[in-house]
Amino acid sequence: MPEPWYRNGLQFACTQCGDCCTGRPGYVWVNGEEVQRIAGFLQVSLAEFAKRYLRKVGSQVSLIEKPNGDCVFYSGGCTVYPVRPVQCRTFPFWPEILRSEADWTEAATECPGMGRGRLYSAEQVARIRKGEGDAASI
Ligand code: SF4
Repeated sequence: MPEPWYRNGLQFACTQCGDCCTGRPGYVWVNGEEVQRIAGFLQVSLAEFAKRYLRKVGSQVSLIEKPNGDCVFYSGGCTVYPVRPVQCRTFPFWPEILRSEADWTEAATECPGMGRGRLYSAEQVARIRKGEGDAASI
């Protein structure tokens, strides 16, 4: 397999600014395992969780968001941080962001944590992408 453009690694250190979780209408995809984990963390039944926090989009399921585009679980910070979905854990090491250096640079204009702080090796990035951990644990 050819080496990725970020073969020397990528720097990332979340500043907890919350910009990626607020004011951005979009989808936070969740699977059954993630739903169970978050519902358990919040100590609500799956039925209640689905009613209050989920929406179906085609064949997939997403968290809902607040009318202003904030994540439904954002309140001055992530309120489900220890059990946040894989999509959140793997940011900014998403396929569309890692596609090219230009994509990374463009995404970095909206995330002050990208391109600074801790250096992740290409191998560590690959593990995070596979869901084997997150930026905090790898
Ligand atoms: S935009 Fe970047 S720095 Fe800000 S909370 Fe999200 S990941 Fe962290």
